[in-house]
Amino acid sequence: MNTQYVTAGLVDGFGRVATDLRVSLTDRCNLRCTYCMPEEGLDWLAKPELLTGDEISRLVRIAVTLLGVNEVRFTGGEPLLRRELVDIVRAAAALEPRPTLSVTTNGIGLARLAGTLKEVGLDRVNVSLDTLDPVRFKAMTRRDRHADVLAGLAAAVDAGLGPVKVNTVLMRGVNDDEAPALLAWCVERGYELRFIEQMPLDAQHGWKRSEMITAGEILESLRSVFRLDPEDARGSNPAERWLVDGGPATVGVIGSVTRPFCGACDRTRLTADGQIRNCLFAREESDLRAALRGGADDAEIAERWRAAMRTKKAGAGIDDPTFLQPDRPMSAIGG
Ligand code: SAM
Repeated sequence: MNTQYVTAGLVDGFGRVATDLRVSLTDRCNLRCTYCMPEEGLDWLAKPELLTGDEISRLVRIAVTLLGVNEVRFTGGEPLLRRELVDIVRAAAALEPRPTLSVTTNGIGLARLAGTLKEVGLDRVNVSLDTLDPVRFKAMTRRDRHADVLAGLAAAVDAGLGPVKVNTVLMRGVNDDEAPALLAWCVERGYELRFIEQMPLDAQHGWKRSEMITAGEILESLRSVFRLDPEDARGSNPAERWLVDGGPATVGVIGSVTRPFCGACDRTRLTADGQIRNCLFAREESDLRAALRGGADDAEIAERWRAAMRTKKAGAGIDDPTFLQPDRPMSAIGG
């Protein structure tokens, strides 16, 4: 194990240590979820701006071998759209110490890729699914791909990419009546369901606090059908988890807005164009791509990454009246 190279990890001014890296592989997506992106899409990053597969693999290697990162999640945009994904996962799986590797995906194309991803070393997947109704799915995502997502989920289980987690965002008057049905459906199939409070990270800046379905409302809706008992200490896990009807199935609720977990945050984020963000809601980024392309060696890049994390704020402050939404939307940061 190359731990002798880890000179210092990613420590911020409040003593939090980032060991969980979220890597956005692309800002593009094949869905247009109404709470995320406008129908016409966005001004995508131009190819020269994107990190190459090799550049991403180098930065993941630096994070794991020099900075103490032990968990890497590939996201986007839609990470399955990135052709180099399989090679990037393979390279990350060969690292010592071996990080835990997962992908957050909308599931489209997963039916085809799940087996290969497992073979090259992927451990788990999170699949986003907001509704069980194909007609609603089409309205919410502006694409008729519900069946592809369900096929992707099933393929992930078959490939051994478990525990498979399902991420759901509820929107008032759209799918907020579906929480119990989604939970029953996931429990039956062995998927771990996690509800995510809608955050002010949409490209359209249309988020309204009053329209968001809160963690409290989600729990109330679930409790109308299920008995929920708190599972364990939350730790750095953003999801508070409950045992469903005595377990073993669980359900998670990520209350990023009403029940923030910033004090225990252990995340560092790399965007598809090589910027480090020390928080999903940060308003500043640190450019590693310029360093990479300017010939910086691994030690220099690691030091820039540490410096970027040192200035992490105590909290994201989403529920604060002075909160300002970051310039980049979720799809460009990596959710
Ligand atoms: N395309 C992949 C997917 O669908 O999982 C990865 C990227 S997507 C941005 C990651 C997650 O963020 C999805 O579960 C999506 O529903 C969620 N998401 C997007 N915009 C959000 C918002 N404004 N608030 C909360 N979650 C959001």
